[in-house]
Amino acid sequence: MNKGLLSVDEALAQLLAGAVPVPDVEDLPALEASGRVLARAQRSTMDVPPMDNSAMDGYAVRSSDAKAGARLKLGQKIMAGSVGRALEPGTAARIFTGAPIPPGADAVVMQEDTQSDADSVVLKKSPKPGEWVRYVGSDIRKDSEILPAGKRLLPQDTGLAASVGIRTLPVYRKVKMGLFFTGDELVMPGEPLAPGRIYNSNRFTLRGLARAFDCEVNDYGIVPDSLEATREVLRRAATECDLIVTSGGVSVGEADYVKPAVEAEGRLLMWRIAMKPGRPLAFGKIGAASFIGLPGNPVSSFVTFVIFVRPFLLRMQGLSSVEPKSIAARADFDWPEPDARREFLRVKWNSQGGLDLYPTQDSAVLASTAWADGLVDNPAGHAIRKGEGVRFLPYSELFR
Ligand code: AMP
Ligand code: MG
Repeated sequence: MNKGLLSVDEALAQLLAGAVPVPDVEDLPALEASGRVLARAQRSTMDVPPMDNSAMDGYAVRSSDAKAGARLKLGQKIMAGSVGRALEPGTAARIFTGAPIPPGADAVVMQEDTQSDADSVVLKKSPKPGEWVRYVGSDIRKDSEILPAGKRLLPQDTGLAASVGIRTLPVYRKVKMGLFFTGDELVMPGEPLAPGRIYNSNRFTLRGLARAFDCEVNDYGIVPDSLEATREVLRRAATECDLIVTSGGVSVGEADYVKPAVEAEGRLLMWRIAMKPGRPLAFGKIGAASFIGLPGNPVSSFVTFVIFVRPFLLRMQGLSSVEPKSIAARADFDWPEPDARREFLRVKWNSQGGLDLYPTQDSAVLASTAWADGLVDNPAGHAIRKGEGVRFLPYSELFR
């Protein structure tokens, strides 16, 4: 049934075999590194916390002489950021959260479990040894790995790095993505829409996606349907970009010049993929730049971007894990006449926690992608019955 078509997984495997991280790494201030991909694992050169300290506002005591009802003399006050003296037997030290536990003390009684006056405190509870003490190295051990290579840094990752005193982090430089859009029918919003023309919506969708993935974008705009024009922009983009992504012109129609243009300037693999929407996809190399040619239909270019360009790009960005996580979800719709190809259906969460289907799944209906919360990844030939579990790829996973 899918004769001559490549499966999505086969195409992905071939694509990813050719994806390598950009060769350049830059040291960025950790303050600026959130969202970037870490190039080398980071280890801690210190214990965190660096000293035993109090987890509460209260009183540092020796648990052996601090039984419930005991009255202890207050010998000192230890604030966060200062260091106390050794604790005399039979005394307590007023202590605040984060302040170092003084030598001799082994527990903290929290303020709420005490009664105090100016120079003594009465304990309402016997503390256990170690109670409300945060021990040295209990968060991070010296020499342990705190961040793996190939991780996109979350804000809290940069905080973690800072907590062990790291000031700069080695991250991969941003991927330069070139975009252009083939089609003599295309005009930009703001220009008159002559008969037979359509607006270049893919430019907005694909540029927005490139931005969402933190690329530097070189946008070459609309390229006319001619071999010379397509070759020229490819040549230029190949010297200026790491990855060139295009829309349209990858079918085998008379006005489809992407294939011969890439073949003339570099190497090309043309794939017909067993997926819907999608099908034609071009993958190639022009000089040092990689090339992925997406179909022109707005839904097809969107879906093929998130299914193919996304993992390829993430690999180029240096990420080690590029598989989107899917969620098991309930279909609140019937899909009685599935395609023989694997389908990516536009769906949206409903208030019952199930998924609704956009009524038109045509690959020209861009409104479906705007309405949806993500895609159902439906196996080839699989009819969906209402209430059935399906594999859902939320946009929140596909956009990162
Ligand atoms: P193609 O892949 O070039 O054969 O185009 C397939 C369909 O997508 C045609 O209906 C095109 O008019 C449409 N299309 C191509 N490029 C764009 C674009 N940039 N924005 C919106 N529609 C497009
Ligand atoms: Mg075209």
